[in-house]
Amino acid sequence: MAQATTYRVQRALTSAELTSIAAAINAATSSPEIVGAVVTTVFTVLLRTLGERLEDYGPDHRLVPGSYAIPAPQWSAIAETAMARAARFGGRMSIALELVDVMPGTYDDPSAPVPESPPADQRPYEHVLTVSREAADVIAAASRHCDELARYFGAGSREHREATASWQRQLSRVFAMDFGSQTQVSRDGDLSLLVRTASGLVYGIFFHHTPRRCTADGCSMLIDDDGTARPAWADAPACPDGQHAPAYPLDAPHPGTWTFHS
Ligand SMILES: [Zn+2]
Repeated sequence: MAQATTYRVQRALTSAELTSIAAAINAATSSPEIVGAVVTTVFTVLLRTLGERLEDYGPDHRLVPGSYAIPAPQWSAIAETAMARAARFGGRMSIALELVDVMPGTYDDPSAPVPESPPADQRPYEHVLTVSREAADVIAAASRHCDELARYFGAGSREHREATASWQRQLSRVFAMDFGSQTQVSRDGDLSLLVRTASGLVYGIFFHHTPRRCTADGCSMLIDDDGTARPAWADAPACPDGQHAPAYPLDAPHPGTWTFHS
């Protein structure tokens, strides 16, 4: 992003500098080492422009990453290399966030040299997914729930589409390797899963059913499965005669969606 800022150093890295930065990143053997390699190599070459050394900086003389800038395409290329390396250790997602804090700023320079090819895929060859038998039942139940919504509300109905799309999205996330290559899936409710990943991140895929509102004008009651009406908030207005119009029938499968919670 172009900013009206005066940087201490604002320049494109040379192809040779980019190559040496990538080599250091690809020699790292953990996510923290990758971040260290980026900081060390990028700022060593930028400070050299000023005749300074990275060793001259420390707790008493802080280096401010935002005081330096490199072309945006080079910034992206370095981040891609770091993320590809981190994928080997299941840290692809977290490293992307960390880099934002430690990398220099950017400026527009579409002509700056960038690596000729994208970084190699360094993920492990296999994703070992351990699914408890109770979790296997939840997965079957979730698919069945989507089928029931299709039967009740119609295939392609909003209820069917929204539930199915959200389930597919979350199930794909479980199979993806963004959080490492060793994943354990367990049950967390009739239609919900708990996922423990090699990166340390634990997340839930929870089914939230759409509250059954009363659709009558001016009424803000929620209707439970047994027909009991309760106010959506204290003093919520209600149908004066108590004859509510539930948004979907009491015996219908619950419309709703699966969402990600970490
Ligand atoms: Zn009502």
